[in-house]
Amino acid sequence: MNEYDSEMLAGLLQKEGYHLTNDQRKADLILLNTCYVREKVKHKVFSELGQLKKLKNSNPSLILGVGGCLVQRDPSLILKRAPYVDIIWGTHNLHRIAHLVKLVEKNHSRVIEVKEDGEIPEGISIKRNKKFSAYIPIVRGCNNFCAYCNVPYVRGREKSRAPQFILKEIEDLTKQGFIEVTLLGQNVNSYGRDLPEKVDFADLLSQVQLIEGISRIRFTTSHPKDLSDKLIQRMSELDKVCEHLHLPLQAGSNRILKKMGRGYTKQMYENLVFRVREAIPDISITTDIIVGFPGEEEKDFEDTLDMVKRIGFDGAFTFAYSPLPGTKAYEFSNQVPDEVKSKRLRQLIDIQMRITEQKNQSLVGKKFEVLVEGVSVKDPEELQGRTRQNKIVVFKGKKDLIGKLINVKVLTAGCWALRGERIIC
Ligand code: SAH
Ligand code: SF4
Repeated sequence: MNEYDSEMLAGLLQKEGYHLTNDQRKADLILLNTCYVREKVKHKVFSELGQLKKLKNSNPSLILGVGGCLVQRDPSLILKRAPYVDIIWGTHNLHRIAHLVKLVEKNHSRVIEVKEDGEIPEGISIKRNKKFSAYIPIVRGCNNFCAYCNVPYVRGREKSRAPQFILKEIEDLTKQGFIEVTLLGQNVNSYGRDLPEKVDFADLLSQVQLIEGISRIRFTTSHPKDLSDKLIQRMSELDKVCEHLHLPLQAGSNRILKKMGRGYTKQMYENLVFRVREAIPDISITTDIIVGFPGEEEKDFEDTLDMVKRIGFDGAFTFAYSPLPGTKAYEFSNQVPDEVKSKRLRQLIDIQMRITEQKNQSLVGKKFEVLVEGVSVKDPEELQGRTRQNKIVVFKGKKDLIGKLINVKVLTAGCWALRGERIIC
C-alpha cells in the first residue's frame, strides 16, 4: 500500500512538472514516505534524515518532506527531532502533496497537514514503477484492531473504493499494456461492506476477470476469518485469478490468537486451508507469523512451529513482535525478552526455509507460465519472473522478454528461487 502511495506522490508531482531523479544531490525535493508496522522504522527514518540534513546544509533550497504512517501516528515526533523538515503530511493528506510543496516554495516556511481521517479522491494520475504489473487499492484502512497492529490507527477505518473506479483504473492500464494487477487491501475479504451497492470481493474478482487485456489477477491480504466459500469457489473458477493465497496465520496457539484478537482458532485456519487446497490443488499458500507476542510461552511457540509444519507453507514473512505505543498489546504484561524473540525467530525461519526448499524442489521438471519482471537481482546476465503461484524463476533470455508471459521448465530449485529454461510450447 505504501509503494502504491509513493507512486501516487510521484504522479501528483510529475503533473506539476517535477521529474524523478536517482541522484539525491540533484533533487530539489526529497520526500520520505514512511511505513509504521514495526518500531524500527523510527531508527531508519531518523538515520536517513541525518544524511539528508547534511545535503540540505549544502543546498538550502532543497525541500524535505516526511509523511505516511509514522507521521500520522505521531506528527510531533518529526517536528521535535528534525525541525529542519519542510513538509509533514499524514496518510489522509497524500493527494494534497503538490499544494503543500507549492506553499513551501512560496512562503519559505514549514507546512504541516495531518488530518484525522478522510478519503483519497479518485482520478489521480499514478507514476507506475512497472509497465506491465500494477497495484490497485480496493479498500483502504482497517476495522479489525488486532492487538499488536498500528494499521487501524494510521490508516483509519475501512473504506472500499466503488467498483466502477477500480474497473476504470484497470481498463485504462490495459490500454497502456498492463497485463497483471494486484488488488490491495488490509483485508480484501471485507471489500464492499461499506458500499451502498451490493458487491463483495468475489463479485469484484468476476468483474475484473471480464476486462480484456488483463491476464493475471492477484490480491493481498486475506484475513482468515473473512475468507468465504463463495470466494474459494470463485477463485477456482476464474482462470485469470492466480493460484496464490497470502493468508496470515500470525500464531499457531489458540491462546495467543485470542489475545491478538484475530477471530479464528488454529483448527478453523487449518480447515480453511484444507478447503482452499481441495478447490485449487496447485495453489501456493504463504503467510505472516509473529513470534514473541506478549505472554507467548515455549508451549505456544511450539504450537506455532507445529502449525507451520502441518500446513506446509510455500513461504512466510516472519516477524519478532514489536511493541507499538498506543496499541492494546503494548500494555500487556509478560512482554517476551528480546533475546527469546530472536531465538524463536531464528528457529522459525530455519524450519520454514527447509519447508520452502522442499516445496520448491517438488516443482523440478514441471512447466510454468512466467511473467518476466526484469533482470535477475543476483545476476544481471539473467532474467527473473514469477509463476502464477508467485514463485520467483531465474532463467536465461533476452531483455525484450521483460513484461511478457513465457513458458519455463524448472531445472533446479532453492529456497529463494527456481532456476529454469525457456521452452516454446
Ligand atoms: N492486514 C494484514 C497485515 C498487515 S501488517 C493482516 O491482517 O494479515 C503486515 C504484517 O506485519 C502482519 O501480518 C504482521 O505479521 C506484521 N506485524 C504487524 N504489526 C506487528 C508488530 N507490532 N510486530 C511485529 N509484526 C507485526
Ligand atoms: Fe492490522 Fe489486523 Fe487490520 Fe491486518 S487485520 S491491518 S493485522 S488490524
